[in-house]
Amino acid sequence: DGEPLRCIGCGAVLQTTDKTAPGYTPQSALDKSLATETQDVYCQRCFRLRHYNEIVPVGLTDDDFLQLLTQIQDANALIVYVVDIFDFNGSLIPGLHRFVGENPVLLVGNKEDLMPSSLKRSKLQDWLRQRANEAGLRPIDVTLLSAKTNQSVDDLLQKIDKYRGDRDVYVVGVTNVGKSTLINQIIRQNTGVKDLITTSRFPGTTLDKIELPLDDDHVLVDTPGIIQNQQMAHFLTGKDLKIVTPQKPIKPKVYQLNDQQTLFLGGVGRFDYNQGPKTGFTAYFENNLYLHRTKLANADDFYARQRGDLLTPPAADNTDFPPLVAHQFKTTAKSDLVFEGLGWITVPAGVNVTGWAPEGVGVLLRRAMI
Ligand code: GDP
Repeated sequence: DGEPLRCIGCGAVLQTTDKTAPGYTPQSALDKSLATETQDVYCQRCFRLRHYNEIVPVGLTDDDFLQLLTQIQDANALIVYVVDIFDFNGSLIPGLHRFVGENPVLLVGNKEDLMPSSLKRSKLQDWLRQRANEAGLRPIDVTLLSAKTNQSVDDLLQKIDKYRGDRDVYVVGVTNVGKSTLINQIIRQNTGVKDLITTSRFPGTTLDKIELPLDDDHVLVDTPGIIQNQQMAHFLTGKDLKIVTPQKPIKPKVYQLNDQQTLFLGGVGRFDYNQGPKTGFTAYFENNLYLHRTKLANADDFYARQRGDLLTPPAADNTDFPPLVAHQFKTTAKSDLVFEGLGWITVPAGVNVTGWAPEGVGVLLRRAMI
């Protein structure tokens, strides 16, 4: 009594409220375990790991984050850095470059299945490499794959084997990039580099990392996902989030716009063409997200009347959805106006545009991907 209950697997304090935080266990499972003689309780993450060999994503707080970076700094490891190609900017780990030291970084662009098939893969690789360079990283290689469809996961395993040498492997990424899906594919993978992971038992599992033994004395370490607070995911309910999250390859949509026209992205974002000649803008969003064109002069009014109705998501009952905030840009080169976590609009050089997103969600300009 007085002492909090802890998971006997990882030592986290047990809790029944936050599925994404350490120590989560469903109330029913907790009641059941406490009714047994031993009263041994596992958190859901350790339970799944023991019984199904399945990794469950777990979020990391800011405090733990610095500790993780320090571990990376002290490790002699190949760093496998997983990013979501569709949400590259939301995938960046702040400060990572300062902690990798001499460790080689293998950049993994996940969710390749969402990219239009017309986009040349070599071009996409170059683009990712350039963006990584801007973030201060010099990856030894860039690999594209889809953890969900298992496409090119075997290529990754071969590259890991090629680059790791006499080192451990650390897999890092922010939450939602698909790191758990990837690790689970790696565990299941039995083609390609067959013996990369030699056993399905995971000794030494601790809260902050999961170690999978490799075929020598080394391990592949799955680090907890780092939580990005700016994600659109925090403002939308499950159903709404599904509507904006692509599942199939994006079909780009081209809009010929005059200046003083607005394009609504459902009710979750807005694009204003302020100034420039009549020109084409290419939109990359979930294929079924409703894009509505209207006059800029009427746009505020239109949004006030139609949010949750014609302009949805957010659903009408999502009263917590923050107001849209304007971010204005002038382009000097062909660029992507990125609505973090939602998608982007490619805009030509020499125009004046405004991107609107809920307060707290980033809107930024970057070098055009396509
Ligand atoms: P983690 O937080 O990084 O461990 O991410 P998860 O593995 O839990 O995945 C986050 C979301 O991305 C889930 O909805 C997955 O289904 C989805 N996802 C993961 N990998 C892929 C992929 O290769 N393609 C697509 N389209 N979605 C993916």
